[in-house]
Amino acid sequence: MKLDILAIAAHPDDAELSCSGTIASHVAKGYKVGILDLTEGEMGTRGTPAIRMEESATAAEILGLSVRENLGFEDVFFTEEKKYQVAIARILRKYRPEIVLANAVEDRHPDHGKGGSLVTKACFLSGLRRLETELDGVLQQPWRPKAVYHYIQNNYIEPDLVVDISAYWDIKKESILAFKSQFFDPESKEPESFISRPGFLDFIEARAREMGHKISVTYGEGFTVERVPGVEDLMVLV
Ligand SMILES: [Zn+2]
Repeated sequence: MKLDILAIAAHPDDAELSCSGTIASHVAKGYKVGILDLTEGEMGTRGTPAIRMEESATAAEILGLSVRENLGFEDVFFTEEKKYQVAIARILRKYRPEIVLANAVEDRHPDHGKGGSLVTKACFLSGLRRLETELDGVLQQPWRPKAVYHYIQNNYIEPDLVVDISAYWDIKKESILAFKSQFFDPESKEPESFISRPGFLDFIEARAREMGHKISVTYGEGFTVERVPGVEDLMVLV
C-alpha cells in the first residue's frame, strides 16, 4: 500500500498531540495517511505498553488511518545510529509516503528532538540506491519523501507553516483522549505526570488557537520545514 503522508512519532500519542488535526484533515480529503510509532512509550510515568497499544489502535480508528505500525525501539535509549535509521528506511520504502511528518526539532523530552533528527536522516538514507533492504525476502526499491515537516509539541517553536485544522479540532481532541492512561482522570491512582495534570488539554487548545491565530482561523497546527516549500498555485496558500 502506498501512503500520501506518514507521521512518525517517538512515542504513541506524540502525533495525536501535535499533528492529528492535520492528519484528520488530509484523511477527509481522501489522502492515505499512516502513523509509525518508534517506541511503545514504556518509560512513560503512567499506563503500560499493552494499554498504550490499545489506546493507539483506538486513536488510529478515530483518525481514519490507513495503517499504524510500531518499531518497538527502546524508549529513551534509542539513538540515531545505523540500525535505527535502516529500520525506519525499511518502513519508508514499504509505504512510499510523499510527505513525512516528524517530531519537533527540539523539545522538553529529549526523544522528540532525537526522533525528529533520526527521521530526517532515515528519509535521506532511504533514497540511497546502495542501501539494500528487504521486506519479506524481497529487495526494496529506494524511496525518498518529497518533504519532511517537523510538528511542534511541548516547547514553543515559531512555525514556518500552519495547517488550518478548525474543522478537525473535535477529532483531534477525541484522538488525544483515546490515550486515557496518559491524561487527567480523577479516578486514576497512578502518579501525576507532566501531561496528566488537569489543564494540560487547555494548553493543547491554547496552542492550537495560537497557531490558528497566525493564519486568521480558529485552530491550527504549526510545522517547521527543512527546505523552502514551493507551490504552483498561490491560491492554495491561505
Ligand atoms: Zn513523546
